[in-house]
Amino acid sequence: MSLSADNLFSRIPNYIHRRCFRMMDRMREKKYQKKILIIESDDWGSIRTSSADALKILQKEGYDFSSAVYSYDALETEEDLELLFDVLGRHGDKLGRHPSFVANYCVANPDFKAIKESGFRRYSYEPVSRTWLNAVGSKNCRELVLAGRKREFFYPELHGREHVHVRKWMNALIQGNRSAIQTFDLEMCGLEFRVIRDFDSCFYSEHMNHILSIEDRSNMIDDAISIFQSVFGNKPESYIAPNYVWDFDTEKILKRNGIDVIQAAKVSRIDTAKHLNRYLHVGARNAIGQKYSIRNCFFEPASLKYPELAACKCIREIDLSFDRHVPAVVCSHRLNYSGRIKPELRDRNLKALDEVLSETCKRHPDVEFLSPQEYYELL
Ligand SMILES: [Zn+2]
Repeated sequence: MSLSADNLFSRIPNYIHRRCFRMMDRMREKKYQKKILIIESDDWGSIRTSSADALKILQKEGYDFSSAVYSYDALETEEDLELLFDVLGRHGDKLGRHPSFVANYCVANPDFKAIKESGFRRYSYEPVSRTWLNAVGSKNCRELVLAGRKREFFYPELHGREHVHVRKWMNALIQGNRSAIQTFDLEMCGLEFRVIRDFDSCFYSEHMNHILSIEDRSNMIDDAISIFQSVFGNKPESYIAPNYVWDFDTEKILKRNGIDVIQAAKVSRIDTAKHLNRYLHVGARNAIGQKYSIRNCFFEPASLKYPELAACKCIREIDLSFDRHVPAVVCSHRLNYSGRIKPELRDRNLKALDEVLSETCKRHPDVEFLSPQEYYELL
């Protein structure tokens, strides 16, 4: 497709903006002697699509999932964790440390039974530990997560309370919205925007639109931290906002809860209504002393048009990070490791992850697989 002159000119300011940002970014970023690699993975603990059967029922109802990759994301199973652990446990740095996989958890899911009993008038949620116990193939997930942490390669951190736009979802249920009701009966919270052609899908988090007061956000984060503590036995040390949307008030709430590290993209949104972005660089800190872990490499085969290129692309990004003397922080969502719906995709992606780690160790024998705590100290 060719660009019209108007289209071309309209892109120039953006292009210049991006180039300037990149230049500033390189000048300001903190440099590291060590070649540090860490994987950050979001969405663990969330239900998303409840089962392969549920997806089939919805397909029969006429929903088209062909371009909606997140519809294949589902609650992790014991098998998903065991296979991922096999890959992580196979690789070591020069000191024998395994690669650190930071699994960012949404620690609650809707309590469908209680919500139905209230006639859709009252929202209730359950801790992820109960969701695991009631889900086929996930009963021992808590024990496995704790074992993964003990083996020093799988580290739970916080992604939020639930990955659902609660108010929008409850309104949709009360109003009898077709997809909300159909998915509720299958123990799901709506569908991805690519399926229902609605960017306001309940599938996403509440933080998207900033409709929550500071007090409500504070309550949600306080709840999330206390559930996290009861499930995993400790407080989280870092946080990643759903959909990379958070503002300075959220940072203050996190600080009050003892969270000093925020996982982030280079460009993060601080106000969805005003389309206001924030640009962060490696080594950035905010006014209240919190540090940012900036993602600069991406291993997302499940979201790529050509998933067979995912390993190659990620290896190149890791090379570039080390050339620039910054940590390689690999963003890789749970979707890539979720086998409840399509185990063959998980297996394909794990092979590619194995390749990324083998090749990185070969190309960079001095790579260091620090624990998140060691890495956070150095930020
Ligand atoms: Zn997420």
